[in-house]
Amino acid sequence: MRLDEIGEFGLIERIRRTVSPSKRAPIGIGDDAAALSFSPNQLVLATTDMLVEGVHFDLATTDLVSLGWKSAAVNLSDIAAMGGVPRFLLVGLAIPRGMRLDQIDDLYRGFRSLAGSYGALLVGGDTCSSRRGLVISVTALGESPRARMVARSGARPGDLVFVTGTLGDSGAGFELLQKNVRRKGSGGARGGSKAEMLIERHLRPVPRVEWGRKLAASGAVTSMIDVSDGLSSDLHHLCNESNCGAEVLAEQVPLSPALCSATGLKRQPLDYALSGGEDYELLFTAPSTGRERIRRLGITATVIGTIEKKKGMRLRLSSGRVIRLEPSGYDHFRSAGKGGAR
Ligand code: ADP
Ligand code: MG
Repeated sequence: MRLDEIGEFGLIERIRRTVSPSKRAPIGIGDDAAALSFSPNQLVLATTDMLVEGVHFDLATTDLVSLGWKSAAVNLSDIAAMGGVPRFLLVGLAIPRGMRLDQIDDLYRGFRSLAGSYGALLVGGDTCSSRRGLVISVTALGESPRARMVARSGARPGDLVFVTGTLGDSGAGFELLQKNVRRKGSGGARGGSKAEMLIERHLRPVPRVEWGRKLAASGAVTSMIDVSDGLSSDLHHLCNESNCGAEVLAEQVPLSPALCSATGLKRQPLDYALSGGEDYELLFTAPSTGRERIRRLGITATVIGTIEKKKGMRLRLSSGRVIRLEPSGYDHFRSAGKGGAR
């Protein structure tokens, strides 16, 4: 068997099979973060993500402040997806020859500005040289009351599928960035043109920490994941862990006005939502009896479909036709390699 045959997730599954379940880790490999048991009522959440130059980012299309921001954001998003509160961060850096001190200062400026706004403290890391490009590895530790933590595995047939915010902006923004539709300067005006808004969502995603915590605290939510690989892939992960399938209503998938009216994109808006990835929104499920409770939380969440007993995912088009929905997000070993940060 070859790595490009089993892909990134086949490899993770292979590693997972070698690990025995333990009461010390109520959630181990297979969720957005591990949930670790140190005390009776509280769980420690732990997650780590790497950003590798040439794989996840290109210094021609991101400034270092945004890169620092994003490297913190992608980790806090995984804590958010468990309904947790982020507390501590560790940063590993492999720095290539020729990188300047002011660039590293910028990286940390972005990192601090995102992490600080959620009260997460930088408490350590590791530093070394790199022969080939910058590597940033961030570990986030958070916490959640044991009774409120939300895993990927709790969805049940009949549950509604919700997603926060809008999907696809980041994937479209990445495509525009590659086409050199650059915003002017790293600290420049925000939210100007539609293209700038999409690019901003790609470069500086905002993790839904407060929303994740509120959703978990409501007790209405049965499962949750953050959308890092694209709706089709992340819903697939959620269904797999919950041992069920899902139907998505194409018309209900929330798309921003900026995405719908952007010019010069190669694909249809819905395609970016399904397979663009890096939205860092929350995808979650709840029984229909929880719908009103969720509405009252005052967060932006849209019902996009239903969990079904029948495995696999289906997409109901506006015509009423139902087609198979395949996970089509990024896989590090199945696809060509270079892309936006995952
Ligand atoms: P996310 O996109 O939410 O960060 P990933 O798809 O990266 O999640 O990882 C899925 C699960 O697999 C997580 O529980 C993660 O900790 C675990 N995982 C990923 N890579 C490895 C690895 N090399 N060894 C052990 N566990 C891993
Ligand atoms: Mg995740």
